[in-house]
Amino acid sequence: VSPGLTVLDLGDIADIPDSVRLYGVGHCSRTAGLPVYAYLVEPADGRLVLFDTGCAPPDRAAAAGHPEPAADRYRTAADAVAALGVAPADVGTVVLSHLHWDHCYGLDLFPDATILVQRRELQTAVAPYPEQQTLYESFELGHRPGWLDVLDRVRPLDGWTGLADGVAVVPLPGHTDGSQGLVVDVAGGRTVCCCGDLMSAYESWTGVYRVPGRPSGMIPNGLHSDLAAWRATTESIARSGWVPLPAHDRRAPLAADGRWTPRPGDPSSLDDADRLLGH
Ligand SMILES: [Zn+2]
Repeated sequence: VSPGLTVLDLGDIADIPDSVRLYGVGHCSRTAGLPVYAYLVEPADGRLVLFDTGCAPPDRAAAAGHPEPAADRYRTAADAVAALGVAPADVGTVVLSHLHWDHCYGLDLFPDATILVQRRELQTAVAPYPEQQTLYESFELGHRPGWLDVLDRVRPLDGWTGLADGVAVVPLPGHTDGSQGLVVDVAGGRTVCCCGDLMSAYESWTGVYRVPGRPSGMIPNGLHSDLAAWRATTESIARSGWVPLPAHDRRAPLAADGRWTPRPGDPSSLDDADRLLGH
């Protein structure tokens, strides 16, 4: 029996310029809501695994200087899990892709979960470089990051960690040095990789430039701590044949259930998804 995987829609971060979505800077007039997804995995043998828990609530996000989640669609991961008829206390493990503010809120709502973070990510989040202090809600800026209240339930990991049959945590450095993903062998012989913000959008995966003979031509996520690591990680996913599931791309649910397959280095594969979404 393959592990089950369910996409959790946690709402949108309001009115993000395309340039911010792709490159992390705000010079583009075209804006759109930035969706926020988490993933719930049900292993064949063992307790539920949740990948990421989403944004700070709108008022708290605004107070910390972040773009605000749209209040009418905001849901905590606990709300989303409960909507499936699952008690949040039944989640045994929370895997956090990284500790930026839009991935790790509401951890207190999963009282029985062990929280898995790469050791490198935890070290970075305690004392981030100035460029990423806002994203991490750094103490140095006077903030109190969302993970602080559950620190006694955080277990640092050092690299690859198997969780259950067909479910494993993999390090995915690039967006941040300590980013990690969750690889799941889903039904139908496909392997998906919940990848956080390694690529927050599929444009990073499909790219616009074709490089013959390489699974390449990808556009790096503008927010990266290490471009060489980003490229090596992304190309290794392409070679593995895993289907990446980003945290912030409306096409992720299509890829999750196999209705659409994003092809690395092939921008035309985005057209299929846009047709399915009715764009
Ligand atoms: Zn994010």
